[in-house]
Amino acid sequence: AAKRAGGNRLEVFAEGMRVSVHERIAAEARLRQALAGNLPWTLPLWFQPVVSTVTGQIVGAEALCRMRTPDGRILSPYHFIGAAEETGMIVPLGEHVLRSAVDHLLYWSGHLGYVSVNVSPRQLAEPDFVPKLADLLAAHPGLDPARLVLEITETALLASTVDVSERLATIKRLGVRIALDDFGTGYSSLTWLKSVPADIVKLDRSFVAGLAEDQRKASIISAVLWLARSLGMSTIAEGVEETADWEALKAAGCPAVQGFFFSPPKPPEEFQEMLLSGACVTPMEQFT
Ligand code: C2E
Ligand code: MG
Ligand code: MG
Ligand code: MG
Repeated sequence: AAKRAGGNRLEVFAEGMRVSVHERIAAEARLRQALAGNLPWTLPLWFQPVVSTVTGQIVGAEALCRMRTPDGRILSPYHFIGAAEETGMIVPLGEHVLRSAVDHLLYWSGHLGYVSVNVSPRQLAEPDFVPKLADLLAAHPGLDPARLVLEITETALLASTVDVSERLATIKRLGVRIALDDFGTGYSSLTWLKSVPADIVKLDRSFVAGLAEDQRKASIISAVLWLARSLGMSTIAEGVEETADWEALKAAGCPAVQGFFFSPPKPPEEFQEMLLSGACVTPMEQFT
């Protein structure tokens, strides 16, 4: 059931598809080994560029976790994030992801504006999440904290036992920015906007894909763009695959996009190549 996409060896599961019990147990064992034995290369980060609709250039990147299997396959998060959440290993995994993302960001200073990382509800609810984040920033005094963005989904707000808005406010006081991930797919997106001090709205790809041919999607996007702007937030459209959708988003005034249209997530070496080559959406792509 795993389909191949985004390169040669990546195994991708569509959302909602099930990982077999066997696979899950194997993933859990590999996670345990990787996190205990400190084998960071078995849990690499891949990077997907975020592109400005104004300049066509890369303004930031989302760090997305992968798992390398002993036989050389690369697994997408659908294979192991669920197991990590249930076992609590998401906490050390998340710390690994944050540290690694910051290392890459510093390495690419002068070329890349920011890196965003996904933070799970369980990780955010840890009592020492904020102190550890502060320690990480303190260990890298040259890093402007605003160049680090934490992506939070609405489930964090719904499921959490801690006061998430309060915790996010503390994080913001460190200077780190907050993005609302998969915006629009939850049950209380407006509550989210009201109560959470976020900087960026990431419009879920279910509203984005095919918007050029769907007036309802286009209307929703215009309204969200307007709302986000009124609240002083920026918007990133996720999952832009078609030139027509890029055009429509640009025309609607969406400041930035992310999607296969420009690039899938890539291993650090390939992402760096793209970054340093000055890759951008060319006028050809912009105006056809
Ligand atoms: P997400 O944060 O919403 O990340 C976007 C996902 O959409 C990525 O899948 C990306 O590869 C995919 N995507 C990007 N552009 C397109 C497009 O144009 N079309 C389509 N069809 N898909 C696109 P990926 O890398 O498989 O990650 C899946 C999810 O796993 C992420 O969704 C995020 O929720 C979670 N995840 C990934 N890395 C981490 C991590 O380090 N920590 C935690 N807690 N969760 C993570
Ligand atoms: Mg995300
Ligand atoms: Mg997302
Ligand atoms: Mg999404």
